[in-house]
Amino acid sequence: MAVGVLALQGSFNEHITALRRIGVKGVEIRKPEQLNNVDALIIPGGESTTMAKLADCHNLFPAMREFVSTGKPVWGTCAGLILLADKAVGQKLGGQELIGGLDCTVHRNFFGSQLQSFETVLSVPKLAEKEGGPDSFRGVFIRAPAILEAGPDVEVLADCPVPSDDVRTIVPTDEGKKERVIVAVRQGNLLGTAFHPELTSDSRWHSFFLNMGKETGERSLECMAAPGRY
Ligand code: GLN
Repeated sequence: MAVGVLALQGSFNEHITALRRIGVKGVEIRKPEQLNNVDALIIPGGESTTMAKLADCHNLFPAMREFVSTGKPVWGTCAGLILLADKAVGQKLGGQELIGGLDCTVHRNFFGSQLQSFETVLSVPKLAEKEGGPDSFRGVFIRAPAILEAGPDVEVLADCPVPSDDVRTIVPTDEGKKERVIVAVRQGNLLGTAFHPELTSDSRWHSFFLNMGKETGERSLECMAAPGRY
């Protein structure tokens, strides 16, 4: 299995290293045609406006949207989560193009500025159920987004308390009243995390993502074997 990692900007090297740790080849993606040779795609963290501008220059948006629609696994971490969402709010300068697919509204800088970056222990029972180990995970949040709304097909994997009143003032009025926000989701072949698992030594999110591919593959084989069942 080869996993493409969008390599225009941000923490793509760290994802490739994390994949190598679990024996999987990560392939740097900079051109649309390179997506034909990979079974899954990771869109890393970084800066979503810059990443979107570079992706546009490389004509990658149509190919990435096509990749999402094939049902192959796609994982967006942080800026990558923003790009995968159907809707992003909290942009000061008009925003950026999105790939979309994930039925979520994401607030781009929900947790504040770079200085308000933090680490916190998240409860992720699904991760323990699927990959073993503790049901906690140390989330690294760097100028992180949060998911404010998620559609009915979106499974919430982790949420997180809004850290302080200080940060809450950044968020527009309604969302400002929230006590907890969603920080990890799955919708079929799509995975989104507001934090950076590739910056920790715990490989379970990468394994979880790869196993999503196996599940999707098995499901499509079952569909072929039993037409009309789905
Ligand atoms: N909030 C950032 C953005 O808008 C993302 C930060 C990150 O990827 N660490 O792009």
